[in-house]
Amino acid sequence: MLIRSYSSLSNFYKVTRKQSVRLSKGFSVTVSALEKILRTFIAGSGKQLVFEKPLESNPHFNDPAGLYLHIPLCHNYCSFCPYLKERYTDGLGLLLFEAIKREIHIFSEKCSLTNITSLYVGGGSPLVLGLMLSELVDLFRSKLHFDGDVAIEVHPNDITGKGVEVIQRCNASMISLGVQSFDDRVLKSIGRQYGATVAKSALSVLYKTGFDSLNVDLLFAIDGQDWESVKTDLQNARDLGATQITCYPLFTFPYTEIGRYLNLKKVKLPPFSVRKNIYYKIHEWCLRNGYVRTSVWSFTLSGNKPFSSVTRERFAGFGPSAGSYNGRQFYFNTFDITAYAEKSDQGYLPVALTMDVPVELQRLFWVYWRFYETSIDTDTYRHKFGGDFFKDFKIQLIILTWLKWIEKESGSHLRLTARGSHWLHLLQNFVALNYTSKLWEQMKQCAWPSRIDL
Ligand code: SF4
Repeated sequence: MLIRSYSSLSNFYKVTRKQSVRLSKGFSVTVSALEKILRTFIAGSGKQLVFEKPLESNPHFNDPAGLYLHIPLCHNYCSFCPYLKERYTDGLGLLLFEAIKREIHIFSEKCSLTNITSLYVGGGSPLVLGLMLSELVDLFRSKLHFDGDVAIEVHPNDITGKGVEVIQRCNASMISLGVQSFDDRVLKSIGRQYGATVAKSALSVLYKTGFDSLNVDLLFAIDGQDWESVKTDLQNARDLGATQITCYPLFTFPYTEIGRYLNLKKVKLPPFSVRKNIYYKIHEWCLRNGYVRTSVWSFTLSGNKPFSSVTRERFAGFGPSAGSYNGRQFYFNTFDITAYAEKSDQGYLPVALTMDVPVELQRLFWVYWRFYETSIDTDTYRHKFGGDFFKDFKIQLIILTWLKWIEKESGSHLRLTARGSHWLHLLQNFVALNYTSKLWEQMKQCAWPSRIDL
C-alpha cells in the first residue's frame, strides 16, 4: 500500500505555499496566508474538523443520493496518482468482489436509501474486475432498486474486446477515459504504461461504441510541457470524439508519493505563471471549440451531458476508502482491503470514521460544490436552507465580486468567471485537497483509527 511520509509532503509544500500570488491589481498574498483564511472560513475560527469512530455506522439517506463504488485495484502503478489502490492479483480481485457483495447486502438490510440518482464506478481501474464488475452493478440494481445512469472510469489499456463487453454488460452510459496525454514523451515521463497509439485507439473504440458522455482526463503543467503540446492533446481529444475534456494540473495531488517521485525522476513543475497561462489558454481553446465550462476542471461539448464524479449532493460509497455523505454526516470506509473484507464478513458495514456536519458547514459544502460547477442558483439555496444567499454570504460576495471571481448571470444565478475558476482550482489544491491529504495519510496507516483531527 502506498504510504507517503509527511516530510515529502512538506518538502513539496514549502516550494509552493511560500509563493506570493496576485489576486487582483496591487493585491498579493502568499498561498499559505490564503490557505489560512480559507481554513478559517471553512472550519470556523480556531475550529478543527474532527472525524471519530462511529457509534452507529448505518447511514440513512432522506434525500436523493448517488452511489459510488471504489475499486482500488490496478494493473499499473502511477507515481502521481493519489487514489487508494493496490496491484491487481486474481486473489485480491476475488476477495474484493465477495466483500463488496456483502457490503451491498448489509447496506440494503440496515440502511435506507430510496431515491438513487446514479452509480459512479471509480478506482483504481475498475475494469480489472472483468465480468465481476457487471455482477456488482446488477446487484446494486436488484438489492437497492437502482435504475439510473452508470458512469465508469476506465484505463486505456483496459479498452480491449473484453473491456468493452464488461462496460456494455454494466449498461454504462457515461465513461471517463484516463488518457492523461496523447504525447509519448509526456506519458513516459509520468510512468504510464502505454503510448499515444493505445490512448488514441481506446478513445476511438469508445466513441464508436457510443455513450451519452465520453470524458477524457488530461494532465497539464508537467515539466517540459508547453502550450503547443497541451493544445495537441486537446485537439486529439476533440477529433477522436470526447464530449468532455477534464484538465488537471500535476500538482493537484500533494498527498501522493509526489515529493519522492519528483526527486527520483528529477521532475520540476513549471513555474506558477506558466501553469496559470496554460490554464487560461485551455479555457479559451475549449470555448472556441464548442465546449462550455461545467466545472473548474471540465469543459463539456455544448448540448452534451456533463460527467462528474464529485458534485453529487448526497452519495453513498461502497468499497475500501469510499466516502458517504447523507447531508448530516460524512462516513469513510476503512482503507485497508483485508480489514474491509473481514468487517463485512462479520456482518457489519466497514465504516471506519464519521463526522457530524453542522448546518453552517452543510451550507458551505453546498455553496462550494455549486461554485465548483461554476454556477449557483440563489433560489435553490433559499429553498434548501431557508436563508437569503445574499445576506448569509454578504461579506464573501463583496470580496469575490471585487476580485472579479464571480458575476451575476441571468435570473437568480451567479457565475464563476474564468479568473474565479482558475483560483478555485488552485485553492482546491491547497485547502480541500490538503484536508483530504491529511485524512488519507492517517487512514492509510491505520485501518480503524479512533479519531482524526484536521
Ligand atoms: S492513475 Fe489510474 S492506473 Fe495509475 S495508479 Fe492511479 S488509478 Fe491506477
